[in-house]
Amino acid sequence: ASAVEVAEAHLDRIASVDGQINAFLHVDRETTLAQARRVDERRAAGEELGPLAGVPIAHKDVFTTEDMPTTAGSKILEGWRPPYDATVTARLRRAGLVILGKTNMDEFAMGSSTENSAYGVSRNPWDLDRVPGGSSGGSSAAVAAYEAPLSTGTDTGGSIRQPAAVTGIVGMKPTYGGSSRYGVIAFASSLDTPGPFARNVLDAALLHEAFSGHDPMDSTSVSRPVPPVVEAARRADVNGLRVGVVREFAGDGYQPGVTARFNEAVELLESLGAKVVEVSCPHFEYALSAYYLIAPSECSSNLARFDAMRYGLRVGDDGTRSAEEVMALTRAEGFGAEVKRRIMLGTYALSSGYYDAYYGKAQQVRTLVKRDFEAAFEQVDVLVSPTTPTTAFPVGERADDPIAMYRADLCTIPANLTGNAAISVPCGLADGLPVGLQIMAPVLGDDRVYRVGAAVER
Ligand code: GLN
Repeated sequence: ASAVEVAEAHLDRIASVDGQINAFLHVDRETTLAQARRVDERRAAGEELGPLAGVPIAHKDVFTTEDMPTTAGSKILEGWRPPYDATVTARLRRAGLVILGKTNMDEFAMGSSTENSAYGVSRNPWDLDRVPGGSSGGSSAAVAAYEAPLSTGTDTGGSIRQPAAVTGIVGMKPTYGGSSRYGVIAFASSLDTPGPFARNVLDAALLHEAFSGHDPMDSTSVSRPVPPVVEAARRADVNGLRVGVVREFAGDGYQPGVTARFNEAVELLESLGAKVVEVSCPHFEYALSAYYLIAPSECSSNLARFDAMRYGLRVGDDGTRSAEEVMALTRAEGFGAEVKRRIMLGTYALSSGYYDAYYGKAQQVRTLVKRDFEAAFEQVDVLVSPTTPTTAFPVGERADDPIAMYRADLCTIPANLTGNAAISVPCGLADGLPVGLQIMAPVLGDDRVYRVGAAVER
């Protein structure tokens, strides 16, 4: 099929179901079809395009796109049209992928349900009364609802793996620095990591490979070659591989169906020839608390740039008010409650007199988590756990309980603090809803999680 035909089929699907799902914040048929026509022309002219040329993709609305608006799910960026493409966007455009639109997300990627979006909640295609996870919930819902075959997300504290798990798709957090942050609206710069969503592991690997690799525009970009993720996904064997089950990620707080599916995945790994052992990572239980100091601290600094002067919303600029007053009014109206909570927490944690007790301590925990990973990877090749303690929760259930919301990230956050590669792959249903298996590998061991994921995905 031509790129135009494939794009049209997906645009039609979006038109028929997105009224219920609300995965997209921006869809523009003409812009998408113009891109698709261009790809068909490039192909007709004999240009060598990659394996994903002509395949449609939906981008989380945190990636800048020069032909579409970018809001990061916030009112403060409403109407902003970025003058440039993110590196991820630009590379995929060059590879011939066709952008279907921009997807919904928790404001500035802060959340686990998309309920913090300024533009309404996205719905889980498996049950419209439940959340599709977050913060990249529009991207997970779009792929799970067959509105898009592929999408992008960012994973700062689980925001790719958790939404993938609860919508029954594949989501991967590359090694930190393996994918470029250039043109990704910043949340917590030492953690933010772009990554792929797809309906199977091989597709995710193809997408991963298409946007990864060194980028001189990102000072923390890794200069080593991209791990051979596509080859690993094709290989899909675990014979002789040593797999560690994280002892701390089980027990209280885990839905029985999640534990049951996880145990079956472990048995499957064993039956395929993997050597499974239990591994203890004693500091993983402190990772969540450390993250909820580090991420807000970095966000309080990054979000200072939304000053009502440079982009987006400006409130109260009637000629009678000072710049400071306009700034305060704009930030009061433009930021939602969770973003304000994080800015206040972060500012507090970084303030003199509290820095050592909060931010400093959190960074020490980060080092201990890193040592746990290093010790574990002396014994095993990959670590596995459930991706999330529970399946998708009902819309509204945790909306007024930030701590309950944060607990959705329990198993995903250790890999963020240390920059390790980690994937979530579907491993069956519990009470009719999808369960995710998380596979974690050392830094730059991205290929391993694809190899194992492809062997056990359901
Ligand atoms: N739930 C995490 C948070 O709210 C997820 C963040 C993310 O990965 N973008 O911070």
